[in-house]
Amino acid sequence: MRTVLAALAATTMLVGGAAEAATVYPLDRATILAGSPFDFKVEFDGVVAPDAVKISLNGNDALKALGGTAQFVAEEKDKGGKVLGSALILRGVKLDAPGRYTLEAKAGGETKSVTWEVYGTPAQPVAKNVIFLLGDGLSVAHRTAARIMSKGMTEGKANGRLEMDDLDHMAFIGTSSTGSIATDSANTMSAYMTGHKSAINALGVYADRTPSSTDDPKVETIAEAIRRTGSKAIGIVSTSEIEDATPAAVVAHTRRRADKADIVGMLYDVKPEVVLGGGSAYFLKKDIPGSKRKDDKDYIQAFKDAGYALATSHSELAKAPADGKLLGLFHTSDMDVALDRMFLKKGTVAKFPDQPGLVDMTETALKRLSKNPEGFFLMVEGASIDKQSHPMDWERAVVDTIEFDKAVGAAKAFAKTHPGTLIVVTGDHTHAVSVIGTIDDDKPGTDMREKVGVYDGAGFPNYEDKNHDGYPDRVDVSRRLAIFAADFPDYYETFRPKMDNPFGPTIKNEKGEYVANEAYKDVPGAVHRTGNIPKDESSAVHAVDDVVLQATGPGADAFKGYMEESDVYKVLADALGLGKH
Ligand SMILES: [Zn+2]
Repeated sequence: MRTVLAALAATTMLVGGAAEAATVYPLDRATILAGSPFDFKVEFDGVVAPDAVKISLNGNDALKALGGTAQFVAEEKDKGGKVLGSALILRGVKLDAPGRYTLEAKAGGETKSVTWEVYGTPAQPVAKNVIFLLGDGLSVAHRTAARIMSKGMTEGKANGRLEMDDLDHMAFIGTSSTGSIATDSANTMSAYMTGHKSAINALGVYADRTPSSTDDPKVETIAEAIRRTGSKAIGIVSTSEIEDATPAAVVAHTRRRADKADIVGMLYDVKPEVVLGGGSAYFLKKDIPGSKRKDDKDYIQAFKDAGYALATSHSELAKAPADGKLLGLFHTSDMDVALDRMFLKKGTVAKFPDQPGLVDMTETALKRLSKNPEGFFLMVEGASIDKQSHPMDWERAVVDTIEFDKAVGAAKAFAKTHPGTLIVVTGDHTHAVSVIGTIDDDKPGTDMREKVGVYDGAGFPNYEDKNHDGYPDRVDVSRRLAIFAADFPDYYETFRPKMDNPFGPTIKNEKGEYVANEAYKDVPGAVHRTGNIPKDESSAVHAVDDVVLQATGPGADAFKGYMEESDVYKVLADALGLGKH
């Protein structure tokens, strides 16, 4: 902690100080796992001669200390061919000895100095297994709403606890990206899964200045570190496309999260023992109907050839051979949300009627991964908490939060019989969402706004759970939670759950701006709300607010106070024993 504070102070003092034009990757104050390969790059703002470049590490020749072969680029160019300056790149270097490193790069009057903290891990892994559960976009309001909707509340006290409520260690997590206080699911999950913060849309790389999305300085992913250091098994489970940003961050290196076809290849390179989710369209070669690939690579066949059993439905998942590697792809795109899949049968459920839920997928993964005597790392994502918070479809987002919480319950049940399991539950970023009271259809009048109950007028909602499955029997009850976003595009607020299909609040007009979707104009009592974010945003956006992380099991006591997402990786590295020792 002292070194972090010292680094902060040093940075503060440098503001307005020495002329520093060059950029060094890894960035200043990077924390680097000992023995973990990374790409080193210096970008000079001017064109410099190769023999003018001097790079030192703790006062010694950096190129010798880092190893690898230096590649000097005389002129890096932008998309339009404009020269950006010279660069020096060393790929796949590493630092084995923990400690503090100061790197200084000089050339042609430019100087840049950065400090790195290289950390090791205990000689013995702290945990045998790690289950990392990520609620995409999971904010405090989602938890509160899920608790009230699922458990109920009487006289101001919750009638029950969520599974995640009882995890015994907690930290506030900062989610900002290297280029902005705001963030997206790529760089946030990448920080958790590599220990390095990066830019929006980036996975497993620092975002350099060149246009290519595949040449950026790489950092090691957790999956690669697990493969490099031992023989723990790896599992990836998500309700989104499996090549979407969050699951991709476990394995991927690209500046563009949209490189989904390439990400499938990166998943194949790592070959996690269990892969369950949606997104089969990027596994199919281009001439197969529904394919989103632009080449002839057939990754379904490639995974099969690599020994994977394939499941494409809930029943196939149940029938899959008990041993060996497993690829489950249950949707061409994102899987349907719990509310549609289990209750309303809307969305794309008619086309994909037999999708497993997040709890089934989590339990299947745990059962299989735990057969590895060396233990495992499992990442479980509840993806649609975020995907339904963007269009402000609160009932879908909250019911998915309840489902995510049940997956946490499955992890806790596993840990009870498998001591040595670290469970981490967190979000990658927040939404600007709040529960502010109730909406009561029985309040007088037809003006829906006047039916919003605040303060004493909110009372308690009247959801019921007669079959005790933890889900409300109905979400369209007469007195329901009033949930609103603090940021929004133009849209019609209907004050009602969207029982027909997921909410589509906006449509694009001829000017390319997102305007309120007129389909909701005539819902009784709907009011037009003029947005407070730019018109090129189709939906509510991510918030910069901290995320709450909770954890239990060996190593969980390291989570406390305020931490950056990149700091979380150090705890995972300790748990899994990923540092060189
Ligand atoms: Zn999002």
